[in-house]
Amino acid sequence: MKFKVMTLFPEMILNGLHTSIIGKAVDNNIISIEAVNIRDYSSDKHKHVDDYPYGGGAGMVMSAEPVYNCYMDICSNENTRVVYLTPTGHTFNQEMAKEFAKEDELIFLCGHYEGIDERVIEKIVTDKISIGDYVLSGGELASMVMIDAIARMVPGVLTNDESGCEESFENNLLEYPQYTRPRVWQGMEVPEVLLGGHHANISKWRKEESIKRTMKYRPDLLEKAQLSDREKQFLEKYKINL
Ligand code: SAM
Repeated sequence: MKFKVMTLFPEMILNGLHTSIIGKAVDNNIISIEAVNIRDYSSDKHKHVDDYPYGGGAGMVMSAEPVYNCYMDICSNENTRVVYLTPTGHTFNQEMAKEFAKEDELIFLCGHYEGIDERVIEKIVTDKISIGDYVLSGGELASMVMIDAIARMVPGVLTNDESGCEESFENNLLEYPQYTRPRVWQGMEVPEVLLGGHHANISKWRKEESIKRTMKYRPDLLEKAQLSDREKQFLEKYKINL
């Protein structure tokens, strides 16, 4: 899968995504990440890419033309989805990561300053996505968050050991607590059930811990989780004892 990022700070994208699982996926040619500098497409002799906002107000706005020229240069297929990172978009989640991972190629557009002239957004953008209800200085970190989450869902990026199918948000549940050696650390013991090797009991314990954790931190998710009758009863009992 190809990721192309239109940005004023390409080094930020490349430096941020060349290590660990994503870096390995690039080295193994499972994904590619290209960061293109929008400034290279400015026709201004000083390479300006921004201007004052019409109507006044604080800050500067990125001009339409360099963004459009950049897009025209890197887009080889007009069906490729173009994601604009913006606090005004739909909030990104794991379902979206899985859906985007089905594409062969994605283009990301990172804003800066007060944002980008709306006309070029109307012209080229297919998806407006926010990574959360806060304002970042630029779209670079947001695009890196999205690329990491999407790339993990591309077949071959995670090994079987790292499989994404038992992670948080699968079936709208948060993941159960994890432990590793030593068995006792600072007087705290690993739960007994995990030591016995009884797979059914371990699986039951993990599911119940997931339910408890989701109830505590993200009760909104639980409403959409598919639970068996036994698990529903467990949840009701847990709620009473909270
Ligand atoms: N004036 C804009 C507003 O109030 O909606 C915020 C502009 S922000 C300072 C600059 C750029 O950062 C945006 O164009 C966008 O690309 C990026 N950005 C900021 N917050 C973001 C978020 N929560 N999710 C995705 N991108 C974000």
